[in-house]
Amino acid sequence: MHWCLHSASASLRWGVMEGLLTRCRALPALATSSHQLSGYVPHRFHHRAPGRGKRLVLSRMFQPQNLREDQVLSLEGRSGELTCKSQRLMLQVGLIHPASSGCYHLLPYTVRAMEKLVRVIDQEMQAIGGQKVNMPSLSPAELWRATSRWDSMGKELLKLRDRHGKEYCLGPTHEEAITALIASQQTLSYKQLPLLLYQVTRKFRDEPRPRFGLLRGREFYMKDMYTFDSSPEAAQQTYSLVCDAYSSLFDRLGLQCVKVQADVGSIGGTTSHEFQLLVDVGEDRLAVCPGCGFSANMETLDLSQTNCPACQGPLTKTKGIEVGHTFYLGTKYSSIFSAQFTNVHGKPSLAEMGCYGLGVTRILAAVIEALATEDCIRWPGLLAPYQVCLVSPKKGSKEEAAAELTGHLYDHITEAVPQLRGEVLLDDRTHLTIGNRLKDANKFGYPFVIIAGKRALDDPAQFEVWCQNTGEVVFLTREGVLELLSQVQVV
Ligand SMILES: [Zn+2]
Repeated sequence: MHWCLHSASASLRWGVMEGLLTRCRALPALATSSHQLSGYVPHRFHHRAPGRGKRLVLSRMFQPQNLREDQVLSLEGRSGELTCKSQRLMLQVGLIHPASSGCYHLLPYTVRAMEKLVRVIDQEMQAIGGQKVNMPSLSPAELWRATSRWDSMGKELLKLRDRHGKEYCLGPTHEEAITALIASQQTLSYKQLPLLLYQVTRKFRDEPRPRFGLLRGREFYMKDMYTFDSSPEAAQQTYSLVCDAYSSLFDRLGLQCVKVQADVGSIGGTTSHEFQLLVDVGEDRLAVCPGCGFSANMETLDLSQTNCPACQGPLTKTKGIEVGHTFYLGTKYSSIFSAQFTNVHGKPSLAEMGCYGLGVTRILAAVIEALATEDCIRWPGLLAPYQVCLVSPKKGSKEEAAAELTGHLYDHITEAVPQLRGEVLLDDRTHLTIGNRLKDANKFGYPFVIIAGKRALDDPAQFEVWCQNTGEVVFLTREGVLELLSQVQVV
């Protein structure tokens, strides 16, 4: 696909917990036989009452940073410039860290958000019959020469040679690779069609001037799906099916995306649409008709056009970030590689293809562009790296007596609301005031921040609950908290 998206995929979810368990497992080796004979239970085991050993505490985690804008600028190095809100905020709170021009380390919170996004994508793609594959990033030059894209894509292809002098590129997209793969399948029958294959992998694009953080980098994550059908009509149905799945995905994330007519660019084919998230920083200029809903990328229109081509009403101009792109390819690639299936008459027939991209790392940055305030990140509920942050009282404060309550509330939540296991953080930095930690929590955008403040000493205890995505602040008893949190959807 034709653009530029990023990410990473390590399972860091239980990092803190595993660290804890590793230390615990090391302990029995230290216990002497006399301890074992006397029934001695090592200290840490003793304290691992159900749930307690699993508490995720902020002070032990890879700390998100909290940098000033000038500190962030120096991070970006020589090319140092902050080009948009998501780049600045993601650097400031330690979601990403620059590695080299257009390449970023994705830090633990970001990886968690990305893993959740990939789970939602998997659900939507598998609901329409998608099967997941994983193709190499190293893509042999001969495939790209066959379609002439080795030259036509020019310097955007990141090219390299191996020790034998064989040429490759680091794939920005995989039309060539997947079509050659399908061509190699001798037994593909019409009965297996439509075939919907997709992957979520790193892509590479040698941007002349990387900018906007994760929005336009040189290395990024993309979900790319390729579909194979037995006829143009069937392929159009599949095209609609995938477009609907994209709309469903963005709906579930609570994002306002419009599907616009788009240019086919270097991918080719005859029909193409973009899914655009409407935000001011968007690099794409769009024309939308409020009258009939027509919408198009301005690239596809005559620049002087001010009226809707469908209903002649006036067009509104707006800006968007491209987060998805779909192409109906016909036999453009299958004819080059002879990607065939056996048709109903037992004869070989060229597959009708489509390809469909989602910018995975780009979506993460785009949602921050769309939802964050100037200072505070906001996540779609499903993508929030952690759902709940519990703030315990400051050490030495009047409320300190409620400290234990906070720990108990943590255990109650993870026992009573199973989907929140691994989703609750305890901000145990009790040398800081509640106010300072609330400010941090607000910045990181946990959907629920729960504070044990003055009213935690009431009988029964009342917790102050900040619902970040609705802006509400409510006081709830333990039962109230559990009831509220039991509604939370986690992917
Ligand atoms: Zn119109």
